[in-house]
Order: sequence, then C-alpha cells, then structure tokens
Amino acid sequence: MNIVFLGPPGAGKGTHAQRLMKELNIPQISTGDMFRRAIREQTPTGMDAKRYMDKGELVPDEVVVAMVKERLAEPDCANGYILDGFPRTVAQAEALDTIAKIDVALNIDTPDEIIISRLSGRRVCAACGGTFHVSMLKGENCPACGGELFLRDDDKPATVKNRLDIYQEKTAPLIDYYEKKGILSTAKCTDGGVEENYALVKAALNAMA
Ligand code: ADP
Ligand code: ZN
Repeated sequence: MNIVFLGPPGAGKGTHAQRLMKELNIPQISTGDMFRRAIREQTPTGMDAKRYMDKGELVPDEVVVAMVKERLAEPDCANGYILDGFPRTVAQAEALDTIAKIDVALNIDTPDEIIISRLSGRRVCAACGGTFHVSMLKGENCPACGGELFLRDDDKPATVKNRLDIYQEKTAPLIDYYEKKGILSTAKCTDGGVEENYALVKAALNAMA
C-alpha cells in the first residue's frame, strides 16, 4: 500500500509513520530526514536545502521531487511505502501522481495550540535522531541513548509560526486535492498522547484499506 501522511508540522507524522512502518513492514520516507542527512553529509542537495529549511521555508519543488523520485525507485519501495512530509504543495502532488499510484492520503488533523506547544518543546537527539518533548525529559540527555539533545533551528518560535503559515497556504490545499480523488481519510488528533493518537491514525487507515 502506498500511503501519504498529511498534516501540519508537529502533527506527529514522523512518530506515527515510524510505528506504521514497523507494523506494515514498508519503509517510511521522510523528506525532512532525507534533507537533514544530506546536510550532515554536505551533499549539493543538502547545501541547497539548508538555506530554505533554516528559515522554515519550503525547499523548491524540483529539488524535492527529484530526490523522492530517486528514492521511490529503490527496491524496498516495491511493496509500498509511507510518505511523510511529501507532497507539501499541489505541484509536488501532481508530480507524484506521474510517478506513483497513491492508495491512501491520511490527514493527521491537529489543532494549532497542540502544534505550537509540541514544536517549541521538541528536542532531537544528535546521536540517535530520536525526538522527545521537554515535558517528558528528566535530565539533559537523550533518554534512549544518552546523546546530546538539541532544539532544531526550525523549531525556534518565530520559525514555527512561519512554518504553520506556509502549511496553511501551500499544504492544506492537498486535503481537498486528495478528497476529490476519493482517497482521503482523516484522523482527528487530540493532546491525549501517542498511543491514543496512533489508534486514531490506525482507525483512519483501516477505514480506507
Ligand atoms: P516538519 O514536518 O516537522 O515541519 P520535516 O522534517 O518534515 O518537518 O521538514 C523540515 C523542513 O524540510 C521543512 O520545513 C522544509 O524546509 C523541508 N522539507 C521537507 N519536506 C519538504 C517538501 N516535501 N517540500 C519542501 N520542503 C520540504
Ligand atoms: Zn539518542
């Protein structure tokens, strides 16, 4: 099954996609993670993307589409995949339709207050890549591996606001786009924690499968 995860930044797309990946045994493809890796490895794509990401802006469509196209051609995508953070514009969705057949677009609908609190409190482990919320942390370091935790540049408050505005303008129209294709399913998420929200996501997926 080829699945697209839709939803504002901080909706928990990454968290739920990782769980679903293990459960369905298909890869999670996060364009944000791919860009962060490219930046660490200082590839040309990474250098190009960093300028936009640091400001909370979208990387240009052609750059993202080329990267995803290459990734979807890899053998582990043959039995399905979860796209997390792509498409983010109508142009990207149209490009995706020329290279793949999407079965379900899962909309992770999450109120703005929840988003803002999650993003500004989010910390990422430099060593294992795990993400944690400050409210869950006891010490300074990663609870999973002891690595150093940091605040992503794009999780800084001013940038968060910018990302939410861009989501409304550029990405929210995709809800309509997939609705019209008859493959949209929405999970109305709450501040009830990961387990509760994952159950809502699974229910939304099962309603379409
Ligand atoms: P989040 O979903 O938490 O906002 P991601 O990790 O998905 O963050 O993405 C981080 C940044 O990477 C985005 O703010 C954007 O600059 C860039 N990016 C990721 N995916 C895309 C995409 N599909 N199109 C354009 N830019 C993207
Ligand atoms: Zn860690």
